[in-house]
This record gives sequence, structure tokens and C-alpha cells, in this order.
Amino acid sequence: MNWKSQLQSLKAYQPGKTTDEVKELYGLSKIVKLASNENPFGCSPYVSEFLMNSTNISHAIYPDGYAKVLRDAIAEHLNVSPTELVLGNGSDEVILIIARALLAPGKNTVMATPTFPQYKHNAIIEGAEVREVPLDENGRHQLSKMLDVIDDSTSIVWLCSPNNPSGEYIRNDELVAFLNAVPEHVLVVLDEAYYEYVVAEDYYDSLSLLKQYPQLLVTRTFSKAYGLAGFRVGYGVASENVIKMLEPVREPFNNNTLGQGAAAAALKDQQFIASCREENRKGLEQFYQFCEEDGLKYYPSQGNFILIDFGVDGNQVFEYLMSKGYIVRSGQALGFPTSVRVTVGSKDQNEGIIQEMKSFIQTGIQKQL
Ligand SMILES: *Cc1c(COP(=O)(O)O)cnc(C)c1O
Repeated sequence: MNWKSQLQSLKAYQPGKTTDEVKELYGLSKIVKLASNENPFGCSPYVSEFLMNSTNISHAIYPDGYAKVLRDAIAEHLNVSPTELVLGNGSDEVILIIARALLAPGKNTVMATPTFPQYKHNAIIEGAEVREVPLDENGRHQLSKMLDVIDDSTSIVWLCSPNNPSGEYIRNDELVAFLNAVPEHVLVVLDEAYYEYVVAEDYYDSLSLLKQYPQLLVTRTFSKAYGLAGFRVGYGVASENVIKMLEPVREPFNNNTLGQGAAAAALKDQQFIASCREENRKGLEQFYQFCEEDGLKYYPSQGNFILIDFGVDGNQVFEYLMSKGYIVRSGQALGFPTSVRVTVGSKDQNEGIIQEMKSFIQTGIQKQL
């Protein structure tokens, strides 16, 4: 068969072990999953209320393909027009739609490395050339170097801020300088999957930048702080002209009925988001304190995760923690081979995993002696 030749170099997404598999493998009764940056506090009770009141929805009927109720709710929340939104089956799908609309053989696309892998993955499928610019030693985007590799054939620049997996973010003045310099034919995608967790004062206001820079597109998601990863709802915000070009690429019924309603309900509970943001800061402090006490290198994070460098093979740390019932992401798969990425959990979960990390360090030292 005539497969696209670039598919030969791609692997399907490798899901981690399920909690049930880990339980069985190690004979554990309780597993704490801190691997996918899901919200440890679940989602707003407004969502359960919506679901309980939704038992009469007919599942034989297609969802609203325009997701009007959710679209209007997001538009109102962000103070943008409903025509400035594209909704996706997770922001993963928004990324796919953008790549599909703009990338092809002969085009190139620019991104940081390490960063969220779906930009590169989709670019390869579309046959575009991928230009990766390493993060600096502080885990931050090097925007001026990214500018340097843009040329006439560049279609998209992907910026991830806060960046997964480093947790670092782009400063307001850096972003503005970048947007002033980037050529007009380039779409700048700013992935703000962790927007709700950001507290840094020199973080930019992406939505007001959208009004000044018509080549900017911002993506956000209900999967992280909103705690709705299982429902698969994300969106992009951009000028009406950009959205008009993307909409024909979108599948007609890409957001299901319950997901649309759950996301609209979750949006109404900003108190929940504020309290998750606060708890997340406290949780990050627990990890910072541990890292400082034990002399481990880490990047300060604006997300709900932290990348910690143990100075040994990340798989080793990952496997040790898994045997103790904590699932994290090994940095081996993320471009930081001696680190692990840990989702910030509840206070107790953080205490628990820090305890195990301490015992890992001690066991390691004993082995060397
Ligand atoms: C989790 C994540 C996404 C994707 O989230 P969806 O569940 O598809 O909305 C996108 N970008 C980054 C940086 C992420 O970490």
C-alpha cells in the first residue's frame, strides 16, 4: 500500500500502564497517578449536577456540531466573539486542525525542543519540515533564535507557555518583541494548556494581544485545571479570518453532547479554578522545598507539574516510584533523560511521593557505598 513515507518514522502514542496494571504488577492496593497533569481535585460539582440532570438526553441524536451553548459560554467568559473560536476534541485536536490547514511538503514549522510532542507529530504527518530550537538552560523558549530560523516557507510557529515539560513561561516583553518581529505570513500558535495555573506577574495577557496581532492563535483546554480530560474539550481563539480558514478542516461533530454540557457547566465555577490554582501553588512549594533540601535541580513551574532532575536515568526513578504506587512520567520520553515530570497532587499525595523520592535517593546512595 502507498502509505505516506513519513509514517514509517512515527510510533503510536504509548500510553503508560493503567492503575489496575500497576496494582497487579506490584501487588499494591492504592495507586496515585501523577503522570498526565490531570487535576487531583477532579472537577467542579457543577459538572456532576449537569450530568445528573442530563439523564433524558438522547444519545441517538448527533451533538450540536457548532456547540452553540458551549461556544457562547466560552465567548462570554473570554469576552470574544463566538466567531473567534474553534472548538476541538481536546486542544490536541485543535493542534491537528491547525497543522492540517497550514502544513504540507515544502512548508516548514518552528517549535522549541523539548516541548509538547503533538506539534512535531502532526507536522511530520503533514509532510512539513520541522525546525526545532532548543530551550535555554533555564528551560525557556529562545524566541530570538526561533525568529532566526523562520523563512518564506514557514507556516506555523508553536509556542508553549507554560511549557510542557519544563514548566517555564514566556515573559510579556519577550512575547511582544517576538510578535512585532515575526513575518506576517506566519501563524503563531500560543498553547496555554496551563493558563489557569499561572501566577507570574510578567505573564502576558494573550487575549488582549490577539486584538493587536491578527496572526496569533491561543489554545486552551478543559483537560487540566477544569479537570475534564475524559470529556475531550479544548479550543482555539483567534481573529475571525483565521477561524474561517480552520473551520472547514474541523470534523462536523467533533465535540460530543455531554462534553459540551460538562465544559459549559465547569466554566461557571471560577471559584473552583481559583482554589485549584491556590492549592497548586502550595503543592509546588512542597516540591521546591524538597528539591532544595536534597540539592536537586528543578525548574520553577507555572503549570501543575514539576520537572525534577535526579542526576540518574529517569526511568530508574520512574520505576522505583511506580513500585511504591506513584506513577509519574520519566524524563527519558520527554527530552530530559535524568529527570522525571511529576504532576502536583493534593497535599497528602505530594507528601507521599516526596517521602518515596527521599527513600529513592537514600537507596541510591547506599548502593554506591
Ligand atoms: C495536556 C496538553 C494539551 C492537550 O490537552 P487536551 O486534553 O488535548 O486538551 C495541549 N498542550 C499541552 C502543552 C498540554 O500539556
